[in-house]
Amino acid sequence: MNLIFLGPPGAGKGTQAKILEERFGYRQISTGDILRANVREGTPLGVEAKGYMDRGALVPDDVIIRMIEPEVDAPGALIFDGFPRTVPQAQALDALLLGKKKSSVAILFEVDNAVLLDRLTGRWTHLPSGRTYHVRHNPPQHDLLDDVTGEPLVQRPDDKEETVRTRLAVYDEQTAPLIGYYDNPDDPRLVRVDGLAPIAAVTEQLVKLVHDGGFAEHRAPAP
Ligand code: AMP
Repeated sequence: MNLIFLGPPGAGKGTQAKILEERFGYRQISTGDILRANVREGTPLGVEAKGYMDRGALVPDDVIIRMIEPEVDAPGALIFDGFPRTVPQAQALDALLLGKKKSSVAILFEVDNAVLLDRLTGRWTHLPSGRTYHVRHNPPQHDLLDDVTGEPLVQRPDDKEETVRTRLAVYDEQTAPLIGYYDNPDDPRLVRVDGLAPIAAVTEQLVKLVHDGGFAEHRAPAP
């Protein structure tokens, strides 16, 4: 079963994807992490994407869809984190998964918009791995250093307050319509989790859904 993590920036998608990856062998596919790696390496894709990312806008669909195509071939169960973000991206992903006879279920991380600003502006990231911390709610063991590698953490340029506000507005306008796309009465495949619960409690909700077959009634049948 492939999982699509849906929810606004700061809802905890990346944190939970990393936990499920380490504990259960899922493979996290984060379009944000792939784009940031391209920006760091100065690839043509990175150069094209940087302007959109720095101002909190979405990178154009055709660029993202081209980028995701080879990732869908990876073996094992996948977690799509931060993708799809628009209805055309969701349609493209469905077509790709259908072609590979893979099914998917979407998990909506429900959060109160007021907490997102606090979460994102307090977030520090280990760029090479994508691991994130929060200065107050999930601090690293040593100030501003990654727990695993000891390397320095940085604040993502797009986690500055003004850009965060833009990203939240972009989510409401362009990504929130995906809730209806996956909650379609003809083919319901959306499950909601409480993204405001503590990190371990959210993981527990996800593990229950995955292991206790909580997805059975939501699962889109493989064709
Ligand atoms: P994220 O780390 O998921 O918050 O993504 C950071 C930024 O990368 C976003 O604000 C967008 O500019 C860009 N981005 C990531 N994923 C996508 C996507 N699926 N579609 C369009 N832009 C994306």
